[in-house]
Amino acid sequence: MDYAIATVGSHSALQILRGAKDEGFKTIAVCIKDHTLIYQHFKVADEIIEISSYKDFHTVEDDLLKLNAILIPHASLVAYVDLKTIEDMRVLYYGNRKILSWESDRDRQREWLRKAGLNLPKIYNDPADIDGLVIVKFYGARGGQGYFLARNEREFKRKIGSAKEYVIQEYIIGIPVYIHYFHSVMRSELELMGFDRRYESNVDGIGRIPYNLQRDLHVTYTIVGNFPLMLRESLLPEVFRMGQRIVEASKEICSPGIYGPFCLETVVTPDLKFYVFEISARIVAGTNVFMETSPYALIKHGKPMSTGRRIALEIKEAIKQGRLKEILG
Ligand code: ATP
Repeated sequence: MDYAIATVGSHSALQILRGAKDEGFKTIAVCIKDHTLIYQHFKVADEIIEISSYKDFHTVEDDLLKLNAILIPHASLVAYVDLKTIEDMRVLYYGNRKILSWESDRDRQREWLRKAGLNLPKIYNDPADIDGLVIVKFYGARGGQGYFLARNEREFKRKIGSAKEYVIQEYIIGIPVYIHYFHSVMRSELELMGFDRRYESNVDGIGRIPYNLQRDLHVTYTIVGNFPLMLRESLLPEVFRMGQRIVEASKEICSPGIYGPFCLETVVTPDLKFYVFEISARIVAGTNVFMETSPYALIKHGKPMSTGRRIALEIKEAIKQGRLKEILG
């Protein structure tokens, strides 16, 4: 029986399903009712399975098994369906399922990034040590909601309220660059898929009002969309080195390591140093800006290639070579 490609109808599903179709797969979207019309409208899903809430995701297990579906994870799956459910499902799954727990736990994530030898923003364990601008992040925060900036302990104490679970991180002044990679098992190669920057409310709107009106505003980082970005070409060697180190370190911490798409979330300083503040161990929504292709992927593949399509191509090659097991985690 032929394989189908399935994903949750949200986040980067249009890209994943369209890419799967481009590579000749049958496609399935698992949607909450409210989202169904999008996947019907764009005609990217051959089949739509409706659930009333993400809590019911496990109920589609038998349907997906019957359809011989390979599930492609993305942030909405990871955010709305609990890790244990994902780990326990018998559905075929693209990627290393175990690596999700390394992504979702801030301490483990830092251990991974540190093992890879990347520059990381400093972490302050004691607010009394704050000696410069810091960003305070909450555990389980979605899309940067509730984060705040502080310059010293006094300001931190005023803003933290009763919150208990947070991390105080050095705020790196520079520009945010999100790097999209694809680690191919079939071709034993790390590919660069592109870069984006985020459009966040209200932080990206604050510069539109005069300074004297900005001062008392509370800054928030709610992600609303993304912009494509091209990087100075002389920075690309470092971009590749960072990605390769992440892949190597992932083999040590969670064999067989990370494969498929992943993203390093960085801030680049004026001396052109990349500081990595987070890793996403699966496709990121920023790749949607290249739903057709990024210039890098176009040069590499000689035809338009989105990250969604790249996933499908990898699966197709694995099926052809009888190596599917190597990429299902
Ligand atoms: P998650 O993916 O865990 O939901 P998030 O989207 O909630 O993360 P982050 O991506 O960690 O939040 O950060 C939100 C915003 O803060 C982004 O604009 C990012 O560029 C900025 N940011 C995060 N950490 C730092 C840092 N250490 N220095 C400067 N800017 C930062």
